[in-house]
Amino acid sequence: MRIAIVGAGLLGVASAYYLAKEGHEVLVVDRQSAPARETSFANASLLTPNHSFSWAAPGAPWLLLRSLWRADSGLKLKPHMNGQLLDWGVRFLRNCTPGRHRANSLAKARLCFYSMAETERVTRETGIHWHRDTKGVLYLFRDRHELELNDRSLALLREVGAEIKPISIDDVVALEPALAHVRDKFVGAMHAASDEMGDARRFTEGLAEVCKERGVTFRLNTAIDGLAVDGGRVTALKTASGDIKADAFVLAAGSYSPQLARQAGLHLPIYPVKGYSITAPVGDPEQAPRTGGLDEGTLVTFARLGDRVRMSSVAEVSGYDTGHRPENFAKILATGRELFRDGIALDRAEYWACLRPSTPDGPPYVGPTPVRNLWLNTGHGYLGWTMCCGSARLLVDQMSGRQAELDTHLYRYGRY
Ligand SMILES: Cc1cc2nc3c(=O)[nH]c(=O)nc-3n(C[C@H](O)[C@H](O)[C@H](O)COP(=O)(O)OP(=O)(O)OC[C@H]3O[C@@H](n4cnc5c(N)ncnc54)[C@H](O)[C@@H]3O)c2cc1C
Repeated sequence: MRIAIVGAGLLGVASAYYLAKEGHEVLVVDRQSAPARETSFANASLLTPNHSFSWAAPGAPWLLLRSLWRADSGLKLKPHMNGQLLDWGVRFLRNCTPGRHRANSLAKARLCFYSMAETERVTRETGIHWHRDTKGVLYLFRDRHELELNDRSLALLREVGAEIKPISIDDVVALEPALAHVRDKFVGAMHAASDEMGDARRFTEGLAEVCKERGVTFRLNTAIDGLAVDGGRVTALKTASGDIKADAFVLAAGSYSPQLARQAGLHLPIYPVKGYSITAPVGDPEQAPRTGGLDEGTLVTFARLGDRVRMSSVAEVSGYDTGHRPENFAKILATGRELFRDGIALDRAEYWACLRPSTPDGPPYVGPTPVRNLWLNTGHGYLGWTMCCGSARLLVDQMSGRQAELDTHLYRYGRY
């Protein structure tokens, strides 16, 4: 079968890899000049199945509301309004009940755990070097009440295999000696030994190269202007340089999937949730992080990627603007200086902002649509790196008519 995939990010390229393994003729189309140039470019670099909660939670509406007057909030709502946000917002609020939060978090966690095994498999099969580190991820707490709350809420994810346990500050320092000088700032931590860190862009680029060796074609610098639909099927992708025809199509266009899906008569409730990151060279190696982690007090993440450090923060509901200003990075830089002093050459940091393609309930859309030959692999929100290989396998099992290992209805278009 000839299959065209829209999007050369993590999800599009992983889909191409699994489809090529099945012997299909695969074409990946992207408007950028290389794979992983949008959301998959410089994310926080953490693979965190043990912390894969849905953001739609009982406390979330209050956090969003409070962010209107609290500048230091990690989850922010920037006042703006459009039909897409209104629709998404209502669905998000409906998913903030304890019951929906539980069901959505479990669905996400199952896919995350499944995906970690697939990421391991793909890494073994391809030998891609993505600065993978398997020492686990630290969740650092400055507030005892929050640490206890977090430990209690993790009981939910432990039901599906999460292995994350409270550890002492001595244990933290043993795992991350660079934090010894700030040991008094933290009251304790959680450690997820099976969480990982690594560079999503390098993984995507490496996998794209493997795909090419296996016959996948990449048509880059090509924007899809629309979908041609006839008789309940997509017949072609419309571009300025002509139509691209195929037997089946996979939509993996990140935050831009809803606009394309709409042309096939589908309503995809995905909204962009913006985040910021910096990438800087290691400074003094003794003071630099060796592990990955999240400072729960400032909601800033850190990850070591070879001779660089990635730090990231903020979930901002502010529309499709990907621009950034110096003040957007103030908290990241302050946390970097506080925790790692001269360990990170922050004066040489590269700055980045991008959009998490987020569904209102949390789980992504992976599977068929009412349009017979149009498939989805999109809407992975803040965990697209963690869920990427598992989602691609789940998609391709369904496209091949095989029994998938997970309950596919949890990730279906139109599930609520
Ligand atoms: C700040 C930040 C931190 C994050 N941290 C983590 C993390 O630590 N762990 C984790 O698991 N996840 C993390 N994520 C989430 C993860 O990065 C995303 O879920 C993932 O990258 C989404 O991949 P994608 O392939 O769906 O989208 P993208 O990477 O955006 O790929 C979509 C592609 O579609 C192309 N495209 C779109 N529209 C068109 C069109 N009309 N024509 C042609 N091409 C088109 C784009 O050019 C793009 O290349 C983070 C995200 C952000 C923003």
